[in-house]
Amino acid sequence: MANTGLNDTSMVSVHLIDEEKHFARHLDEYVDKCYVGKSNDDNGLNYHIVSVFGSQSTGKSTLLNKLFGTKFDVMDEEKRQQTTKGIWFSHANYIASTENNADETENVGLKKQKANDSNIYVLDVEGVDGRERADDKDFERKSALFALATSEVLIVNIFEHQVGLYQGANMELLKTVMEVNLSLFHQSKQKCLLLFVIRDFTGMTPLSNLGQSLEADMNKIWTDLNKPDECIDSKIDDFFDLKFFSITHKYYKPDEFEHNIMQLGDQFSNDTFFDNNKYHRKIPIDAWALYSEKIWNQIEDNKDLDLPTQQILVSKFKCNEILNNVYDAVFTKEFTEVGNPLENPTDSCVIFNSLRNKCLSAYDSQASRYQNAVYTDIRSNLAEKIDIKLKDFYSKILKNLADSLISAQETKFPDLKKKSKGMAFLDILTSTTDGVIADFQSKALEFQFTEQDTTANIYQDEYEIQLADLKKRLEEFSNILKQKESKSLINKLSRKFQNNFKEYVVEELSQPTNLSWDNIYSKFESLTSKLLKPYLLNASYDFKIGLSENLNESLHLRLMKSFWNKFDNIVHNYVNEETVSRVLRTVFEDKFKYDAKGLPLIWKDFNQIDSQFNNAVETAKKTLPIFSAMKLSNGKLIQKPVYSINDSVSDEDDDDDDADYYGGYESTDISDNEQSYEGKKKNRFASLLTTKQEAKINQRFKKESDAIYLDAKRSMVANRTS
Ligand code: GDP
Ligand code: MG
Repeated sequence: MANTGLNDTSMVSVHLIDEEKHFARHLDEYVDKCYVGKSNDDNGLNYHIVSVFGSQSTGKSTLLNKLFGTKFDVMDEEKRQQTTKGIWFSHANYIASTENNADETENVGLKKQKANDSNIYVLDVEGVDGRERADDKDFERKSALFALATSEVLIVNIFEHQVGLYQGANMELLKTVMEVNLSLFHQSKQKCLLLFVIRDFTGMTPLSNLGQSLEADMNKIWTDLNKPDECIDSKIDDFFDLKFFSITHKYYKPDEFEHNIMQLGDQFSNDTFFDNNKYHRKIPIDAWALYSEKIWNQIEDNKDLDLPTQQILVSKFKCNEILNNVYDAVFTKEFTEVGNPLENPTDSCVIFNSLRNKCLSAYDSQASRYQNAVYTDIRSNLAEKIDIKLKDFYSKILKNLADSLISAQETKFPDLKKKSKGMAFLDILTSTTDGVIADFQSKALEFQFTEQDTTANIYQDEYEIQLADLKKRLEEFSNILKQKESKSLINKLSRKFQNNFKEYVVEELSQPTNLSWDNIYSKFESLTSKLLKPYLLNASYDFKIGLSENLNESLHLRLMKSFWNKFDNIVHNYVNEETVSRVLRTVFEDKFKYDAKGLPLIWKDFNQIDSQFNNAVETAKKTLPIFSAMKLSNGKLIQKPVYSINDSVSDEDDDDDDADYYGGYESTDISDNEQSYEGKKKNRFASLLTTKQEAKINQRFKKESDAIYLDAKRSMVANRTS
């Protein structure tokens, strides 16, 4: 027999299981090549597996060859030795028929055969011969197991003279079939058709009697069998349908023999024979090779053969194989072909949506034939696998969209603010951020992925995630703008403060009095509260830029801090040796050269000059202590409060670094050391001129006043002598 490999198209059968009990390689290719009617809408279930079982040399192979046009080895009449080793597998070439089905053009006489449109595959199993070797027994049992596990119809080949003899090899055979069947199908209640073919039928005993006799044997064996608990009450026909057929002697009645086989063929062609696929294992043909190999391996390993599990495993294997094929050959291929999908996201979405559907339909068309639960499960795995890729893309588009919307706002906002003068900052900000969200929502609609096939809508989830992220980023964006707004408010109010306050301080200190610091301090208070008044609402502040209560309060403190720093700056910049000397001199001159009404004095005598001079010096000198510290009339120093501001806003613009401010005029005078460091630090704001500076001012004042005094005297002498 030809079994030279699959490339050989003349190969008519496959040595499915050889003498060494090895399973055939490339069985799948053979099965596929023979399958008739392969087309897209074929569900792959249009096939039948038929096997034969019986003692050795009872004409099994002969029968199959005539019935199905197979070419199984038949024993050579002269040598009489066993031929069929292991199990052979073949697609039926035809089905024998009593009808003449010859094509009119065929000139070969009668052609009594039908086309094998229903794809009958035949297993020719090595005969049982009652051999005693343990290994042979084992193989017999394994063969029976395999034949039953894979076949819908098991032909039990038996000589007529063996029927009714409840003994010997024949009995062994039936018992084997029965036991094996029970171990296989007790869980699934899978039924199998046992077709008893009685050979060398003489007609002495009618077929019906022989059938009854066989049924009785079967029942007896069934009763005697040890049954699993689950099927202690089950009957033999829960597992078997029995049919009987007789064939006369091949050599004594050769014509009748041929005719009987044709009649048997008619049965196989009859639509009702397979009883609506009642015996079918529902494994699509493309998985049959895999299925049968798995079964053989389990039998070989002497494991319990659990057919339902095997069927699920096969379905899983095949569905996963289809999934991977579809994913690699369709999805990945076409996905990659798009190039950079982000370049044209709207089009890419359309492409990907239809690619997704295409992949799922491709999967459906191939995988829906497998066990439904498995098929559905793996379908959602495929959808999930695709969705992971597409979701990644979707998330990138949304992220890009959010990026571009936000960065557009970042550049546009300052202009927008300028253009919307008169509109409150907060209103501009709110309408901007609301606009960004609305844009995002409407643009995102262009990029849509909808899954009707899975329960979880991951695209909707992703959209929500990205939207939430956008809102978070907009909040950060708003916070930055609010901070900027806060800073510009600080600058604006501080500038106003500075302009007003500086003018007042300079004026007050150019004519200093004992109440000067009281006046300055109360000016500070009135000015700051005037500036803050528009923002004061029910004892707390709202600067109308959408800040939280806390941030409003810290902005208030920041403003106060800034006012105080300006106060500090203005006074300390003003009070120095130069200015104070000038002030002293002005006070002196006013007092010395003018009378109480402010009119210039005309010197009458030296005494008048002297007394006027002493008076003026006295008055001028009294002003000097006003400049040594900011002291109120109640004797207290003005204290600059310490503000501790706890918010996350950066302090970069705050100008309150004390060291910078006081470094220039901090006392280096040793005599000042009596004050503790803390005390100095505390009073640093109020402290103005140092003792050393005051001494210098005094010296300078003395020089200048003396000069003026001398001038006055000189002018009087000149007046008199002229
Ligand atoms: P297998 O071992 O069961 O496959 O038997 P074979 O088909 O190889 O046949 C064994 C021998 O029996 C061959 O010499 C056949 O010619 C012969 N034979 C075939 N069919 C019949 C039959 O119906 N009756 C008898 N008595 N011999 C047959
Ligand atoms: Mg044989």
